[in-house]
Amino acid sequence: MSSPPHVIALHGGAGVTPGRDYREATDYMRDLAARLSAQLAAGVSAVDCVEIAVLEMEASGLFVAGRGSAPNADGLVEMDASIMDGARHKAGAVCAIRDAASPIAAARRVMEATPHVLLAGQGASDFARQQGLEQIIDPARFFRMPVGITAADIEAETKALAHGTVGAAALDLTGALAAATSTGGVFGKRPGRVGDTPLPGAGVWADDDVAVSCTGVGEYFILTSAAYDVSARLRYRGGSLESACQGMIDSVGRLGGDGGVIAVNRAGQVAFVFNSPGLKRAVAGSSFEPWSGT
Ligand code: ASP
Repeated sequence: MSSPPHVIALHGGAGVTPGRDYREATDYMRDLAARLSAQLAAGVSAVDCVEIAVLEMEASGLFVAGRGSAPNADGLVEMDASIMDGARHKAGAVCAIRDAASPIAAARRVMEATPHVLLAGQGASDFARQQGLEQIIDPARFFRMPVGITAADIEAETKALAHGTVGAAALDLTGALAAATSTGGVFGKRPGRVGDTPLPGAGVWADDDVAVSCTGVGEYFILTSAAYDVSARLRYRGGSLESACQGMIDSVGRLGGDGGVIAVNRAGQVAFVFNSPGLKRAVAGSSFEPWSGT
């Protein structure tokens, strides 16, 4: 008897400038997806898998999340992250957190160790410290410029392009689905601004049918309940995973927003849909050779 399907899909953000070389980031993502697929095949759960995926992408500094996060208008970094376990219908998230080295680790602890879903600002930072999670001691040494974003982008106020996010969606051997998303937000954002990334239903969603992670200009993804919209379209309208994702991105586009989505369903199918100039993305699984692209 063949074993049940497993798959991991990753994104490294929709903030892609045509013509730039993102190979360092996409090669990294392909190798990461391959490693995580092997872990899923060995029985690692979907929720552990998406946490590891996002934690590693945050730590790489190649993306606008974790070490590659974007400073706000006051020059301070505020990060957002969320994780959702479809099988248990549980989520954890942090927003505007400043000194946790891994926002996704803090989000996972919120899900596992509190009765809450979302902790913000200083309360989130204090919680992460109490949980013994790694702190950022020296921001000047910790943060770095992500791949494909230059100081000139930020100076020239092409801020719509100077953003990115990382995300993962996975199906494990038990049929459980999970998703996680983490971001440093948008360069030059107003202090205290929080986007879609830490909001279940907007930047992340997982249930028994589908796991979703979004990236793009967060305000539009909040205004369309984007991640949950993919699930709702599948449940109430039917059709393919791809068409549900396309319908959601079309709604974002009608408001004037751009970005992308990755989604995995219970059958092990994967969709990557975006209306931005690109989407750094990767996949590996029982039916997918490791692949990445923009
Ligand atoms: N969605 C993120 C935010 O608005 C940014 C991104 O995905 O690039 O904070």
